[in-house]
Amino acid sequence: MGVDDQNIGLSGEMRAESGVSPASRRAFLAGTGAAAGAVAVAALLGGPLAETARAAEPGSQLPDYAPVPASALGPPLNADGYFVGQIKGDLYWVTDSFYQAMFLTTKDGVVLVDAPPTIGHNLLRAIDEVTKANGRPSKVTHFVYSHSHSDHAGASILFGPDVVRIGHRECRTLLLRDDDPNRPAPTVTFEDHYTLTVGGQRLELDYHGPSHTPDTIFIWAPEHQTLMLVDIIFPGWVPWKQLAVSQDIPDYIRAQDIALSYPWKTMVGGHLGRLGTRADADLQVAYVADLLAGARATVTSLDPTPFFKQYGDNAWAIFKVYLDAASAQIAAPVTAKYLGKLAAADVFTVDNAFAVFEFSVREDGGMQGPFGIHP
Ligand SMILES: [Zn+2]
Repeated sequence: MGVDDQNIGLSGEMRAESGVSPASRRAFLAGTGAAAGAVAVAALLGGPLAETARAAEPGSQLPDYAPVPASALGPPLNADGYFVGQIKGDLYWVTDSFYQAMFLTTKDGVVLVDAPPTIGHNLLRAIDEVTKANGRPSKVTHFVYSHSHSDHAGASILFGPDVVRIGHRECRTLLLRDDDPNRPAPTVTFEDHYTLTVGGQRLELDYHGPSHTPDTIFIWAPEHQTLMLVDIIFPGWVPWKQLAVSQDIPDYIRAQDIALSYPWKTMVGGHLGRLGTRADADLQVAYVADLLAGARATVTSLDPTPFFKQYGDNAWAIFKVYLDAASAQIAAPVTAKYLGKLAAADVFTVDNAFAVFEFSVREDGGMQGPFGIHP
């Protein structure tokens, strides 16, 4: 397949928006670092665009970002593209360095929490590898949804029709709506708390209200002092775009505090290549607190008058530029403070600042600054 045909994951709309013609795309597609990029793509991608993307080379005109601190990276992957490690006792985790799943081996079968499609069949390989070594049965008998999202559960179908599926009541509602054959709705659901006991081993499933999604749960392994909580804390990295595109930003921030109230020593965050420590969680909480402080200061200090003058009757343009300016103002000192401490501080801090400013401060926080009650 020729370079002309390579979409590299961009939709037609996005390509049009970026203003990059196929010809200029072809011109800059001879980038550096192609080998490393190709390895990462090969590790991640399945589906119909996989071959196209695997053949793609990075473009030299794409933005540059600060290097990822070595402390943010996890262990190297094996030849199949995964790493599986013991957390403690019979509790294990598996990663492809983008996503993570956790599993508990017991004398009666395996309990698996999440099945990211990017890890896909490597989940089966990892579980086989571990159970061969520890003599436990390799069959996954129970599957727990951390939340309904496809990027964390879309390979759950690999564990057959008989696996017992467990999730929050709201997870069932969402998955019945989604009607995705790869994510059948859980048949065992709960409201606030569920103790899952298999083969004498125990996971405590807790619901503390909506956060990243309306159905996100806390998976607590007390004997292993391990908490799995997905898309809330990102050990070693800043949170993903707009605080992991969480559906409620104040509740997302509250979930970080609730996470710290558990006496865990190890966190499985669901993303990236390594496990988390208490220090990782403290740093993430401090990062969000700094964004919040900056957002509160900005809503009172940023004067929108120039935007009204510039854009006249284009109300959306006025607000877009106001929000962009606010996000940039909040992000600048936070990015500078965390660069080198949290990976990708220069990638997503502006987007994270927007989420805090727009929701925690303005819409849910009720601080409207210059847009308060008209005199
Ligand atoms: Zn999610």
